[in-house]
Amino acid sequence: MNNINGKVVIVTGASSGIGEATARLLAGQGAHVVLGARRLDRLEALASDIRSQGGSVEYQQLDVTDLEQVKVIVELAQTRFGRVDVLVNNAGVMPLSPLEALKIEEWNRMIDVNIRGVLHGIAAGVPVMKEQGFGHIINVASIGAYSVTRTAAVYCATKYAVRAITEGLRIELGDTIRTTLVSPGVTESELADTITDESTKAFMKEYRQNAIPASAIARSIAYAIEQPAEVDVNELIVRPSAQR
Ligand code: NDP
Repeated sequence: MNNINGKVVIVTGASSGIGEATARLLAGQGAHVVLGARRLDRLEALASDIRSQGGSVEYQQLDVTDLEQVKVIVELAQTRFGRVDVLVNNAGVMPLSPLEALKIEEWNRMIDVNIRGVLHGIAAGVPVMKEQGFGHIINVASIGAYSVTRTAAVYCATKYAVRAITEGLRIELGDTIRTTLVSPGVTESELADTITDESTKAFMKEYRQNAIPASAIARSIAYAIEQPAEVDVNELIVRPSAQR
């Protein structure tokens, strides 16, 4: 019996890419997965696929920028499965552009989803996990949490923030709640679709050619989850071998 079987795992941003791959992998290993994202049709299709393969799944439309909605999905996990073992704060957006393009609405969206979304997950998940006396929060950052590249100043700022928040959580609550920061390099997903700046879009098409499959990141998330309770995997960077 693996150490994932029977765990209750909430995944935000589960409608595509890394979140979807994580949901499929964990459900395949016997976890009860609770999926959230804004595109309900995608969640419905994914849940029906998982069920058809014998998996255990619930889903809920979720916008992580709204704390109340994040609380609702945590409550759904508790009501349906009795507890929350793991919360994967994976939802994110990446509308890259040069700072001088002044795409202020896009800056704000990245801050709202990538930082506030993670904080909302913590706000909804921590009280439940403290009450249970156990839990595991996995935040998906990026290699952009370690260095800044052109057109990615704001995106990287949000991921540096996620890294800082995760470390703060570990320092303050690590004895009760395991914390993991997973930082992917270029990975196949729909993430670059949110880019509206034309020159950045063209550059990213080239840059993203060596992308690894989302399942590679899902496996790193599963690795952190499957460790024994006393083993806390705090940071994982997973990127294409060809990425410099
Ligand atoms: P995708 O675009 O495929 O997935 C992003 C997910 O986030 C979607 O399911 C989307 O669903 C969801 N999402 C976006 N906004 C919200 C919101 N307001 N509320 C709830 N869900 C939301 O990209 P990835 O799978 O690549 O992205 C997953 C994470 O991985 C992100 O945090 C990203 O920053 C990170 N990452 C990805 C890398 C890559 O190369 N792919 C590299 C480094 C980090 P919906 O639109 O239905 O709400």
